[in-house]
Order: sequence, then C-alpha cells, then structure tokens
Amino acid sequence: MLSKQAVSNTIDYALSKFKNLYFPDHAYFSILQKTFNQLIKRPTPIAIAEIQNSNEVSDILLESAFDDVPIFMRSGGHSYAGFSTGKGLVLDSRQLKEVKYNSNSITLGAGLTLKEAQDQLATNGFTFPSGEFPDVGVAGYFLGGGHSRRSRYLGMGADSVKSMSVHLASGERLQSVSPTHHSDLYWALLGGGGGNFAYVDSFEIEKIPSFKEYFFKYTFPASVINESNDVFAFWEDATKKSPDHIAVNITVYIHNGYISKLIVSGLIMNIQGDLAEAEAQFKKTIWSELANFDPSEFEGQMSNPNFIRSNRMKEMTFKGASHYAEDEIGINGFEQIKEAIRRYSKQSNMYMGLYSMGGKIHRPPREISFPHRNSLYMIDLFSNFREDTSKHDLFRNNFNSLYRSLENLFSGRSYVNYPDPDFGTDWPQRYYGDSLERLIEVKRKYDPRNRFDYGVHSLSRLV
Ligand SMILES: Cc1cc2nc3c(=O)[nH]c(=O)nc-3n(C[C@H](O)[C@H](O)[C@H](O)COP(=O)(O)OP(=O)(O)OC[C@H]3O[C@@H](n4cnc5c(N)ncnc54)[C@H](O)[C@@H]3O)c2cc1C
Repeated sequence: MLSKQAVSNTIDYALSKFKNLYFPDHAYFSILQKTFNQLIKRPTPIAIAEIQNSNEVSDILLESAFDDVPIFMRSGGHSYAGFSTGKGLVLDSRQLKEVKYNSNSITLGAGLTLKEAQDQLATNGFTFPSGEFPDVGVAGYFLGGGHSRRSRYLGMGADSVKSMSVHLASGERLQSVSPTHHSDLYWALLGGGGGNFAYVDSFEIEKIPSFKEYFFKYTFPASVINESNDVFAFWEDATKKSPDHIAVNITVYIHNGYISKLIVSGLIMNIQGDLAEAEAQFKKTIWSELANFDPSEFEGQMSNPNFIRSNRMKEMTFKGASHYAEDEIGINGFEQIKEAIRRYSKQSNMYMGLYSMGGKIHRPPREISFPHRNSLYMIDLFSNFREDTSKHDLFRNNFNSLYRSLENLFSGRSYVNYPDPDFGTDWPQRYYGDSLERLIEVKRKYDPRNRFDYGVHSLSRLV
C-alpha cells in the first residue's frame, strides 16, 4: 500500500504528465467513480484515467510513478461487486467506442455497451450473442463468458471473440492475442474473468449476419406454481430436447415467502418467414406441450437493436449470485427450492432466473477458459433492495440463506460475472472449476507483479 506522501507525489507528478487523469478533488471524478451496484461500497480510487486512445494505456502502465499503484480496469462499470473500481488507478475505457468492419470480422472498442454495439452492428446487418441489459459493457461481458438467450444458437459471447488487442501489466502491447498468438492468454482472458490478466482495448468478433427472431412469453399464475412442480420439471426435460434455435427461460418472481408469478419466455431464432411461420415451427417442438402454454402469446419480430431492452438504469441496489445445474433436479429438487423460498425470503422481493444452456454452447469453435459450458442451465438469484437501508442486512441474510440452502442441488460452481463477495474461501473453484490451475499459471506468467489486483476475488490472491 502506498504511503500518504507517496500517493501525493504520484498525484503531483502524474497530473503534470497525463491529460484525462482525474483525482478526487475534480468535479468529473465523482461521475467517473460511480458504480452500478449501490449496495457494494468500494474504496475511493487514487485516480481515474479516462482512456481516449489505446496508446495511452501502455504509457500509463510504463510510467514509474504508478509502479506501486494497484491497477483496476473498467469498461461498462456493471460488475455486481464493483470490482472494476478500488483504491488504486482505474483505467476507464468508456471512450473507446470505435467499431471497425474487417473483411471477415468486426472490431469492437472495449468502451462500447451491449446496446451501443448491437445498434451499430444492426445498421450494417450484423449481430452477436449479447445479453439483454443495455448498459452492460462488452468488455466485462466477453471476459466472463457472456450468457445470452441467443447462446444456444450462437454460442457464448466469448465464443464469438476471435482475437483481442491487449496491454500487459509490463506496459507491453500485444496487438493480436488469438488462438495462434499468445494462445494461453487468449484462453485465459475469455472466461477467466475481467480484471485479472491484461487490459483489453478491443475485441475482434465474428461477422454474424443478423436474422429474424421472435419473442414469446407466458405468465403462469401463482396458484399453478404453488400447487405443483410440473412446469419446472417439464422445462428441465424440454431444455435438453429443444432445437438449438429455440431458447426458453423461466423467471420466478418471489415476494415475501411466496412465488407470486412465473414467466416462461423465449426466443425462436433465424426464422425464414413471418410470425405465422414462427408459430408453426414452434408448435412442432416439445415446447408446445407445456401445460397451458398459449402460442398466441408470441410477440412480433424483434429487430436486433430492440432485442436489448431500451429502459436504462443509472444504478441499482442489489445482490445476485448463480448456481449451475449439471443435470435435472426434478420435482423433488423444485420442491426443495419452494420450501427454501418459504423459509428464507420473508419480507424480501427476489427473482430467480433459470437460463437454458446446451445447443452451440456445448460445441465451442475455439478453446477458452469458460468452465461451465457443459451445464444444463444456470440459475440466477437476484434481490433488488428497494426499501430503506435499515432492511439491507435482513435482505442480505435472507439472500445468503436461500442461496446456500440450494447448494446440494447444484454443481457448486458459479458464474464469475455474477460475483458475490459473501462467497467463502471456495470462490476460486466456484468461478473457475477445472480451469483454475491453468489460469493461475497464466496469471503468474503475464502479471508476475500482481499489478492487476482488484481485491478479495482477484486471482492475484492465489499466486
Ligand atoms: C443488470 C445486469 C444485467 C446483466 N445481464 C447479463 C447477461 O444477460 N448475461 C451475462 O453474461 N452477464 C450479465 N450481467 C453481468 C455482466 O456480464 C458483468 O457484470 C460484466 O462483468 C459487466 O461488464 P462491464 O464492462 O459493464 O463491467 P465493469 O464493472 O467495467 O468490469 C467488470 C470486470 O471486468 C474487468 N474489465 C472491465 N474492462 C476491462 C478491460 N478493458 N480489460 C480487462 N478487464 C476489464 C473489470 O476489472 C471487472 O473485473 C449483467 C449485469 C448487470 C448488472
């Protein structure tokens, strides 16, 4: 840790040398510093560099005044745990928004949000497998793996990345990190989580032509769900049998100890025809057998930009974490979940999302470190702490009890992009599974001085 004097010397020196470097006394600093999740209070950074072009990154990393300052990397700022900011120098990428069309690929600047990237690509007839929340950054999303409704058809977000331009902690720039150049770093960056190995300034992704897709949903009333587990059990089985181009998820709404409603929703992708054709195709699949499922709930075509929600949120106060299901948990498993909801969600509002995997997720085009691809689905527990702060401890305890009480049903693995600071010492195995040992080797090789250390769940803690 830097002494007060050392910090002050660093600041004076750096101020005189770098433009776009902001310190806590600057009005703009408070805007740059904001994290999306208001529940997690992160220490104030020493300084934030708002990167204007990628050359600046190496200059900063080579600057001896920053030698002993921990470096944080930040793009969309949506880390659940605020891991992209902390007591050190934050490299903020949000100005790196260039989109370049190459003959066989597209290059996305690290500062683009999912919506900005999809909007730009759509105007030129392309798309990529992105999540649906508009302001999440492409950088953190790709580096953790990138789950999306489209993944059964197109693969994980990270599977679409062909190469990256990166800056190592030493200041060295590697223009192309790919399966053939620095393949170990390519492997580690995609799925090994952001913030650990190197700063990525851009991602070269596959050129995927956009396609027609239709969205559908159906709301099951609380009475149906609270009386039986048939819908859950059907969904688990059908997810295994679904064609790749149909992805169906479940969202369970939990209010004060009970399931208040359950929504089954999904996408039917790459349809050559109109809505009637989409419905006809859907009816031929196992999904049409879902009890009470009414295909008239189909909504119209979703053009690619609109696929991502348009309602933006400046910030939220929440807690979230995930489990992965390796196989079906069946009627008894869902009964255990409902019992846990009755016991542990009193006075809380929560959501539980069940996201189908399979399809192309099981057939990656290139080897990357994302360790959960063979799972059947991911289950994500999310609690929105809307009420006054005096109840936050209660909500947090409820959440942790509910999450832990489901442990025996699932694989013991969790998505690194839904990091939960309340996880115990098993966090490395949870996030990285079978990739862990090799990730630690790559960390040692490319960041031997642990300059990229974002705190409790950073791989720097393990080397
Ligand atoms: C409301 C909400 C909805 C979400 N929906 C989905 C979803 O549908 N699917 C899904 O897979 N995930 C989803 N996520 C999780 C999301 O993928 C992660 O939060 C992701 O890490 C956010 O990336 P970011 O760039 O916005 O975040 P940041 O906070 O900027 O960064 C996240 C991590 O990546 C590192 N990082 C950031 N930029 C760089 C860089 N240029 N080089 C190296 N490391 C970097 C940071 O140090 C940090 O550790 C959601 C998150 C939220 C809050």
